[in-house]
Amino acid sequence: MKLCMIGTGYVGLVSGVCFADLGNDVICVDRNIKKVDNLKKGIIPIYEPGLEELVLKNYKNKRLMFSTNLKKSVSKSDIIFICVGTPTKKNGYGADLSQIYNVAKEIRSSISKFKIIITKSTVPVTTGDQIEKIISQKISKKIFSVISNPEFLREGEAIRDFTYPDRVVIGTKDKKSNKILKNLYTPLISKGAKYVNTSRRAAELIKYASNAFLATKITFINELANLCEKIDVNIEDISIGMGLDKRIGGRFLRAGPAYGGSCFPKDTKAIVTTADKYKTNLSVIKSVIVSNQNRSLLLLKRVEVILKNKIKNKKICFLGVTFKANTDDMRDSSSLLMIPSLIKKGAFVNYFDPTGEKNEFKKIKNVNFSKNIVSAIKDSDLIIIHTEWNDFKSINFKKIVKNKNFIIFDMRNIYSSKKMKELKINYFAVGC
Ligand code: NAD
Repeated sequence: MKLCMIGTGYVGLVSGVCFADLGNDVICVDRNIKKVDNLKKGIIPIYEPGLEELVLKNYKNKRLMFSTNLKKSVSKSDIIFICVGTPTKKNGYGADLSQIYNVAKEIRSSISKFKIIITKSTVPVTTGDQIEKIISQKISKKIFSVISNPEFLREGEAIRDFTYPDRVVIGTKDKKSNKILKNLYTPLISKGAKYVNTSRRAAELIKYASNAFLATKITFINELANLCEKIDVNIEDISIGMGLDKRIGGRFLRAGPAYGGSCFPKDTKAIVTTADKYKTNLSVIKSVIVSNQNRSLLLLKRVEVILKNKIKNKKICFLGVTFKANTDDMRDSSSLLMIPSLIKKGAFVNYFDPTGEKNEFKKIKNVNFSKNIVSAIKDSDLIIIHTEWNDFKSINFKKIVKNKNFIIFDMRNIYSSKKMKELKINYFAVGC
């Protein structure tokens, strides 16, 4: 099939290359000229395991193309996936849909024969109705169909998640388009993905409901971790004991820093805004948002306690600054709040992240990027394990850190408290 992905970011690029790998002809379009030029040279704009090889292979096979020419790419394609950003509005909690509606306006002049237009971006319920309205102002409804097909991939596992999804959700009542999409997704369905055909509005809401539920799970276990810290119980035991119940499940039930990234923070805010618009109070999700916002402040308080309120002039090392492992995505990472706050209190912060130096910290005085783990931790008073990269799982701290009284605050519970005690390392974890 001939596909066009509009927006070549984490979702558009990954799903585009995976569709190409399944034998489709895919044009990935982006308005960012540099991004497209780089992709044509084989330079991948994001860090995602396995992505580079797959892009290079499919680009070489000419199944994958890159372009900045939206109109031409749309007119050559049968199925158009809208994969642009839907960030939080500058003022307020709702989703900013300007990128989506701009695309809808741009593509309508390129539709002269039947096309399926799909929102893969996460969009509030009724956005599909609006897109249909915008396009039908210029084009007959007979030659296009607007469908919701939300994407559930996770950064860091994106290729695996796209290729082996739990489900493919298609929101349309149009039988012809549904048949075409079922055909497109057949290689994934035959590997075990469940195919869910529902209404467009339901598909839009399924995505938000799923993200809000996962954010709730994380927040739930994070709050229980706070209790565990006070009653000499290890949260890891609670996670295991709860997670083995198949009704609950162990995933997203690990205590740690506030959830971050480009999805959960913005999507929880957007769903409560949508519900408010329809005079429905999603009070559980509202509490989750507040609890998560407080989480970083709470962990900062714990840092103060660990350092006995003496933060000034302390050398603090952050191992990992991205919101999760295996991605370079800094959007809404809790490190963005914690590091500047510690600097304000007079600390010196050294950080190492396997995906390199971050623009977000370049202009902050007394924040320094180290090129490897050894140079990052060797002079530290306090080492904060912020992101759960495999690189941080077997560090010989005693051999590397010069300061004999160094402390570790493991926000991901990577290490065993018992082992650290045996090694006589001053070690703190979350929820124990
Ligand atoms: P992103 O910011 O990485 O990529 C969006 C891209 O769209 C950018 O490269 C931008 O230049 C491009 N763009 C914007 N307007 C354009 C236009 N008019 N023409 C061409 N290109 C245009 O965003 P992302 O993380 O890929 O997320 C995209 C959507 O998918 C969001 O709605 C997000 O919520 C959703 N989503 C993201 C993830 C994830 O893990 N990142 C997972 C599932 C769903």
